[in-house]
Amino acid sequence: MTGKVWFVGAGPGDPDLMTVKARDLITQADAILYAGSLVPQALTQWSKADCNIQDSKGMTLEDITSWLIEQAQHHQTVIRLQTGDPSLYGALIEMVQPLDKADIEIEVVPGISSAMASSAAAVESLTLPEVTQTVILTRVEGRTPMPDGESLKELAAHHSTLCLFLSITLLHKVTAELIETGWSVDAPVVVVQKASWGEAEKIVRGTLSTIKKQCQTEKIASQAMIIVSPTLGARQWENLKKSKLYDKDFTHRFRRGTSQD
Ligand code: SAH
Repeated sequence: MTGKVWFVGAGPGDPDLMTVKARDLITQADAILYAGSLVPQALTQWSKADCNIQDSKGMTLEDITSWLIEQAQHHQTVIRLQTGDPSLYGALIEMVQPLDKADIEIEVVPGISSAMASSAAAVESLTLPEVTQTVILTRVEGRTPMPDGESLKELAAHHSTLCLFLSITLLHKVTAELIETGWSVDAPVVVVQKASWGEAEKIVRGTLSTIKKQCQTEKIASQAMIIVSPTLGARQWENLKKSKLYDKDFTHRFRRGTSQD
């Protein structure tokens, strides 16, 4: 008997932000390998008493894939529990390829990304009519090189929303490059650390010129999302452009507007 390996998005940290599907799979799982550096062990709380639960912290890619293969050769339901959504910075394909070679069936269950949990925590909209309709999910170049055309300066030139993963230790570089690209030193920035982790969650609001100092004061050096966007702070705006969706004059598929044209 060969089982199946599920790559499951655990969401941003709050166990209630897991999907029902993820939770159901956890209750059925025979083996769970979770990324302990970012996924709280509390997320495995619904597992069976005899479920083999292991933290992958300290494991190499080969260790991880051989563990998953071995478990799938003996058990029905094996889970690789990943932070946020597995398709973002999750080394998903590197893990899937060896399983494909070993002829093990896999399936991916999406999760709530930390980008979404961070905008929710800060009550921010990443898109606003006539401000920006585009969100770029990216990171700044550190030890992982950025492909051609994807330097922060090139991406920032769009002046759309930027959600920066894995970049908090390079915050000085982020702010410097955005300012060099023409963003105002007063452009708003929100940093959310441990979004959805209850008491541990921190939200810091500042500008390109102040945010670095503020994060230092708050001792934020990991597990943080940097959001830079012309939409930030819109909750306080008095001249907000409303979207057409709920406009009384706007007709769409589900509602007839009052306008004649
Ligand atoms: N697949 C994950 C991202 C993994 S990369 C997702 O979809 O969210 C890890 C990076 O995600 C961290 O460096 C940080 O930038 C961000 N991150 C993960 N969990 C977070 C959280 N709870 N709050 C804020 N940022 C988080």
